[in-house]
Amino acid sequence: MTTTTEQSPLVQTNHVLPLAGKKGLITGVANDKSIAFAVAKAIRELGGEIALTYQNEKTAKYTQPLAEALGAKLFLKLDVTEEGSLESVIEKCGAEFGEIDFAIHSMAFCNGDDLHGRVIDTTEAGFDSAMNISCHSFLRMAKALEPLMAHGGSLITMSYLGAERVVRNYGVMGIIKAALESAVRYMAYDLGPKGIRVFAVSPGPIMTRAASGIANFNTLLESDAAKAPLGRTVTIDEVGALTAFLCTAGSSGMTGQTIYVDAGAHIVA
Ligand code: NAD
Repeated sequence: MTTTTEQSPLVQTNHVLPLAGKKGLITGVANDKSIAFAVAKAIRELGGEIALTYQNEKTAKYTQPLAEALGAKLFLKLDVTEEGSLESVIEKCGAEFGEIDFAIHSMAFCNGDDLHGRVIDTTEAGFDSAMNISCHSFLRMAKALEPLMAHGGSLITMSYLGAERVVRNYGVMGIIKAALESAVRYMAYDLGPKGIRVFAVSPGPIMTRAASGIANFNTLLESDAAKAPLGRTVTIDEVGALTAFLCTAGSSGMTGQTIYVDAGAHIVA
């Protein structure tokens, strides 16, 4: 057996938490059922400092107590459809943290009609709005964060199996998630030389506010649990744990992937 003096990235000297001293931005918390909330919890448990965003005053009512419970350093309004909103949030993060080590993009939106109708009936306005909020905002986020990530870091977005397969009632959102997963690969290529790693996490179905807008979502939950090798669906905490891991040095050799956290459902036809 050969010996090496190099330490595994998983080994933490002096029992330091894996994200101690790391700082980042987490978007997309609407309430305590949100995937982004579980991500924020997991990152805090690993020692990371966070800035949290809320979309509007309506959601602030639910998210303010969550931000306080999580000990978020910043709690900022972010509506990616408002000009300058994203850039202003990132500027404030820069002023507070100096450098940024991770950012989580957990936002998506699509009109109900476009979600449930035939994709060829999608209006230009509906397509543009879904693409802007759910995909292009991730590119804009990376662009604004790049100067703050001089020492590298992780950028993570949330995708879904509908990117790869036709999922009933997911409609145009499947096309947009496919673009998002492709964007992750191109972004990983462009930003790799700077040590910035980019991922899409692809959770199985979970009942959240966004998911409640998808018709027959309960049927999807049941059929996914029935076919998944683990015989169940996943929890937001399982998605949070994977996402937090992608922000740590334990995943330092990975970038550009879409990583499923779906109890294995995607491998079964
Ligand atoms: P959620 O409703 O809790 O989160 C969606 C978030 O998007 C909300 O916080 C909302 O405020 C935000 N958002 C929408 N439009 C916005 C805008 N214009 N500006 C800023 N924020 C905006 O639901 P969730 O299920 O936690 O969704 C998070 C992500 O996970 C989404 O990308 C979703 O597609 C993805 N996802 C969800 C599931 C699932 O089954 N729940 C599965 C796979 C992927």
